Amino acid sequence: MTDKRRFIIVGASLAGAKAAETLRQEGFEGEVMLLGDEPVRPYERPPLSKDYLQGKSEVEKVFVHEEAYYDDHDIELRLSCPVQAIEPQLREVVLATGKRLSFDALLLATGAVPRRLSVPGTGLEGVLYLRNLADADRLKTAIESASRIVVIGGGWIGCEVAASARQLGVEVALVEAGQLPLERVLGPELGRFYRDVHADHGVELHLGVGVEALRGNKKVEEVRLADGSAVAGDVVVVGVGVAPRIELGEGASLALDNGIVTNEHLVTSAAGVFAAGDVASAWHPILGRRLRLEHWSSALNQGPVAAKNMLGIPTAYERIPYFFSDQYDVGMEYSGYAIDWDEVVFRGDPASREFVAFWLKDGRVAAGMNVNVWDVADPIATLVAGQRPVDSARLTDTAVELTSLVGEMT
Ligand code: NAP
Repeated sequence: MTDKRRFIIVGASLAGAKAAETLRQEGFEGEVMLLGDEPVRPYERPPLSKDYLQGKSEVEKVFVHEEAYYDDHDIELRLSCPVQAIEPQLREVVLATGKRLSFDALLLATGAVPRRLSVPGTGLEGVLYLRNLADADRLKTAIESASRIVVIGGGWIGCEVAASARQLGVEVALVEAGQLPLERVLGPELGRFYRDVHADHGVELHLGVGVEALRGNKKVEEVRLADGSAVAGDVVVVGVGVAPRIELGEGASLALDNGIVTNEHLVTSAAGVFAAGDVASAWHPILGRRLRLEHWSSALNQGPVAAKNMLGIPTAYERIPYFFSDQYDVGMEYSGYAIDWDEVVFRGDPASREFVAFWLKDGRVAAGMNVNVWDVADPIATLVAGQRPVDSARLTDTAVELTSLVGEMT
């Protein structure tokens, strides 16, 4: 080995695994160490609440690479190997065992952890979270013998778990503190759409009401709500958001702001230290703001960009945010980033459950979501990236090709 450098990646995650893959693809001949605290090799999370949870796909399908990949590519994958601290000044990583490893470049891809529900009774048997593969296995087993599940949180985890459980024939009640599921990200129009989709599939919805306590005798039996009512269930799944795992960055005094702050090259405030995936709050040069995206696609694409920058190939991360969700027979892709908007317009009839919704701000497309309409995510992303005014009448006219609008942006 002529290249004596050692690159360490903390987080044997999708972002971490893709970074390691890219280092080798780009011809890096130094040492690559991929450190993870879970006992399993890197895997992808989207199937955990969908196909894998429903027993429709084998565990082998969730892994990012085949088992032999890491040895074959001379990537030192260390599992069950938690990192306790990083010391950017010394260029060292401290393992939980106390052992120190030196590095020439370091990537933090430590992801996020589920927020815990802080009400009495969360320690009861049958109260589950869904974040990692072990959680998915536990939930899968619990669903097999459950007669009624209560899902707390109408976000992506809550909605996808509710849909998977219903498809497995289990009764489901969903409790959401807001007025509608998915409302914070999608707004009221699309929140109503998803409310109706779940209601049509027999989910009992409890909206606009908080959770006061979980009750049961050793095992959970019911969820007490703030309005005094009780929702029975022998399994409770909590999906109330996640928090970025910033501890290593915090301990090393890296700049933090809702995650570990990076520039568009995914460099943190410490030279030689990079961050990618759920933990990174990265400057987006097209959208002109910092974004921390808890999406599969950011992990998938930021890992390789970080790796290139570690190698000294300047590469900006400028992809338009993208995620997808499958619930029952409703599949969707969302491209863009809308936090406030003037109006939501529809191309196609939402009642048909085949349409595209656009979030418009100052006449520009901030985001678009195609529902059961395919092969349009790229033109939607281009409309978002263009940040130019669009003709809303033509945007919503299904006779007008979306690709033609891309060329028309003024
Ligand atoms: P999430 O999407 O942030 O949703 C959390 C939901 O829980 C929100 O609707 C929130 O309502 C609600 N909530 C918060 N506290 C609550 C309480 N005490 N009682 C009832 N509801 C409460 O987070 P998640 O569903 O836990 O998912 C975790 C992460 O995985 C997220 O980053 C998500 O994007 C990601 N994920 C993505 C996909 C996908 O892209 N298809 C699928 C699964 C998971 P408010 O908004 O009103 O606070």
